Amino acid sequence: MAERQHIFDTNKSTLDTLDSEFLRSHNVQLAVKRDDLIHEQVSGNKWRKLKYNVEACLSSRCNRILTFGGAYSNHLLATASAANQLNLKSIGIVRGDELSVDSNQTLRDCNALGMELVFVTRDQYKERYESQYHEVLKLEYPSTFIVPEGGANYHGIVGCTEIFHEIPDDIDDIFVAQGTTTTSCGLLLPMKRHQCLHVIPALKGFDSLHEMKWLLNYSGIETEFIMELMAQVEVLDEYHFGGYGKYDNTLLSFMVKFEDEYGIPLDQVYTAKCMYGLFDQIQTGKLDGKKIVFVHTGGIQGKRSLLMQ
Ligand SMILES: *Cc1c(COP(=O)(O)O)cnc(C)c1O
Repeated sequence: MAERQHIFDTNKSTLDTLDSEFLRSHNVQLAVKRDDLIHEQVSGNKWRKLKYNVEACLSSRCNRILTFGGAYSNHLLATASAANQLNLKSIGIVRGDELSVDSNQTLRDCNALGMELVFVTRDQYKERYESQYHEVLKLEYPSTFIVPEGGANYHGIVGCTEIFHEIPDDIDDIFVAQGTTTTSCGLLLPMKRHQCLHVIPALKGFDSLHEMKWLLNYSGIETEFIMELMAQVEVLDEYHFGGYGKYDNTLLSFMVKFEDEYGIPLDQVYTAKCMYGLFDQIQTGKLDGKKIVFVHTGGIQGKRSLLMQ
């Protein structure tokens, strides 16, 4: 146990306090939880979400882990990497039957780590939550533990509750980027009543509250408790910059300036949008006097692909 869990060691994730004239002028105390430092190639929050999924896989005596993802999925890469280190077989069901193992760097990396990539049509991919499809997959790949896309399940949420336990408990506000909402749900569960979770979806037209309620419900959380939790969430859905994976020069120059000033790299898919949103909110004055933690979920992989374009 100790040995196989060392790959999920989060000791490298520090809490860095930011300082600048801008923050001081608003009397904001801002710290960044550096989950981006957990691993060089894999987004930090992907490890968090896999930790207890892997544990569940091993304790149900499965020797294969199967999951789902798009062509650039950080989650697929994280799964391939974790499975590789733990001597588990891994299978990635990839959206898009026009793709191949050579279509991009993410897929090449997954393949090199020993993941079996199965390219399916978009229609087939839509069935990724159907138990009937899972049964078919289990027949084809015996002793397989299935992890949903993005690690979005109860085990994934529990892994992310640990982020909250690694930050000071006297904070007022948390800011975090959203994809599947798993990380934000994990942060929200242990939060105290007076604390506020600000979520910034990376997707356009994304109904954050609906998605969070669905995932918490799917993970077995009581409806009444879910409604209570939702009162602590503020959705900031104006910072998607055109949609998932989209960005413009405003965002890119913010990323560069931010890294220059604070020494912390951001990625253009998730964390730069979230940090931009946080700074925009501070600018309005409504966070004056607050103690805030920004959860840096990672995203180095996305940044690498940007630099290579
Ligand atoms: C995957 C990812 C997210 C999204 O996390 P969810 O738990 O799916 O909401 C956020 N930031 C980065 C850097 C990611 O790679």
